[in-house]
Amino acid sequence: MSVMLNGVGVSKGIAIGQAHVFYRERPEILEYAIAPKRIEHEIARFHTARAQAQKQLEAIKLKFSTDLPHDISNFIDTHLLMIDDPVLCDGTVDHIRHRVCNAEWALQSQCDRLVKVFDEMNDPYLKTRKDDILHVVQRIQRCLASDTDADAPEELQGDHLKGRIIVADDLTPADTLIIRHQKIAGFITEFGGPLSHTAILARNLGIPAIIGVRNVRQLIQANDWLILDGAQGMLVVEPDDHSLRHFRDLQKDEKRRQRNLFGLKNKPAITLDGKRINLHGNIDGPDDVRTLRQYDHTGVGLYRTEMLFMERNEWPGEQEQFEVYSRALRALKGHPLTIRTADLGADKEMRDTLQHGPMAHNPALGLRAIRRCLREPHLFMHQLKAILRTAAYGPVNMMIPMFTCVSELDQVLVLIERAKNELRAERKRFNPNMPLGAMIEVPAAALSAMSFAKKLDFLSIGTNDLIQYTLAMDRIDDEVSHLFKPLHPSVLKLIDMTLQAGEKTGIDVSLCGEMASDPLYTRLLLGMGLHSFSVQAGSLLEVKHIINHSHLGQLTSHVRPILELATADEIEVAVDAMNRQFV
Ligand code: PEP
Ligand code: MG
Repeated sequence: MSVMLNGVGVSKGIAIGQAHVFYRERPEILEYAIAPKRIEHEIARFHTARAQAQKQLEAIKLKFSTDLPHDISNFIDTHLLMIDDPVLCDGTVDHIRHRVCNAEWALQSQCDRLVKVFDEMNDPYLKTRKDDILHVVQRIQRCLASDTDADAPEELQGDHLKGRIIVADDLTPADTLIIRHQKIAGFITEFGGPLSHTAILARNLGIPAIIGVRNVRQLIQANDWLILDGAQGMLVVEPDDHSLRHFRDLQKDEKRRQRNLFGLKNKPAITLDGKRINLHGNIDGPDDVRTLRQYDHTGVGLYRTEMLFMERNEWPGEQEQFEVYSRALRALKGHPLTIRTADLGADKEMRDTLQHGPMAHNPALGLRAIRRCLREPHLFMHQLKAILRTAAYGPVNMMIPMFTCVSELDQVLVLIERAKNELRAERKRFNPNMPLGAMIEVPAAALSAMSFAKKLDFLSIGTNDLIQYTLAMDRIDDEVSHLFKPLHPSVLKLIDMTLQAGEKTGIDVSLCGEMASDPLYTRLLLGMGLHSFSVQAGSLLEVKHIINHSHLGQLTSHVRPILELATADEIEVAVDAMNRQFV
């Protein structure tokens, strides 16, 4: 009899296949006393296991490094750094010395301590980072328990997983890499959250996935047939013929649709009544340009530079940043690159804040983004100079996140002048006319959009934060995710005000939050007057398809009355009806 289960869909797509149940046995960790003269030997055992764990991860990275998206190599690097982390290593060695106990127990005690610190954090994103510590410690524990030199669990080697749906308690980023190489159909895990690295990887790799399916081990046997719907977070175990036929048809339709969309690659985004729309992509680093170009040869409307600053203790210097940004610019082969200055703080934290000083109570309202850069102008200066220099070699724009008042912009303008003077004195090449823009992502900035627009070359609406701050809902807190409503009338009013400020002053206004990537909102935004979208690579063609089938004049008159509606629910119904009418 078929059974239906639900979890959290973290990567869309339909997978149909037989289950491969992969539960990693955790070695039982016992405490035992050792003879004092064996302390050094025990410490050496711990370091050997660490070195072995490091070797395994290096080997996985090397073996699967072709076409590795930026995020993924970053996750493996994070685990490599953690293996070397002084808090983990020195703490474990201290335990061995002071408790005169075995390495396994000392490592586990130190791990429990660290996990407790993460559990007590307010920030759900950081809370999920404890998974990384657990993954790293379990790998070292396995090395301590066995003397094998395997690069990866035997279970995951070979190619016997092709077409299978993996059912696991948890998967590490390294596991995800290995199974992706084996062309699995999808995966389901019992643990992990939507912000876990494994979930992010699944999305990046385009593997349908559901996480958080409780007790899945009891409900699924090896080789059971499964249907996994990643968009709905739904799983059917041992489906009947009718369900199999239904989902196979859906799968075929989806594949056909994807193939057709690829016919739009490198074609312009232009409405039926001839309005050319800028359709750009979002990236996190130069390596992502390759993914972007798989979908379209286009420019970048949002380069989030934080990745360069995270997982390290010091801000990168000017030359290092210049080289990284130049690499992204070269990869774009003449298409524009909009570099956002560091949006550090809240969900994109640097290591230094974790190590020194307490966490802010409300990090999203704290020393984040431009506030943080203005607090440390000498460090910010490196980034300003690096971007100005990159702009001498191609179409580069600089964009500043999270302004709340124009006086912050005035301070940035002074710093940019200072950066230019320093570059002149140092005889370095730079572009003195580099366009400068602001992200509008705080209600205060949207309400003052006219004042910003008068002083800038472009604006870009960051709806992820604009929604968070307008609706007073933490964008990374699962408990309030139901309050995240892009169609709330107040959010639409603020977007509208910003678009009008652009229109009145004649500057470009783009939208680079997730809302731009969701095809549900494309017609609404076009009708509101948005002519510049910056989206996730995977959404480029779908959004382009809608643009190319839209008549701007018709949408404009259709959308105005929708903006007058009083509730998000009413607007949702009206947008849904519009999408169906103009399909
Ligand atoms: C936004 O807030 O919409 C945005 C694009 O910036 P981020 O998601 O990086 O905060
Ligand atoms: Mg933002």
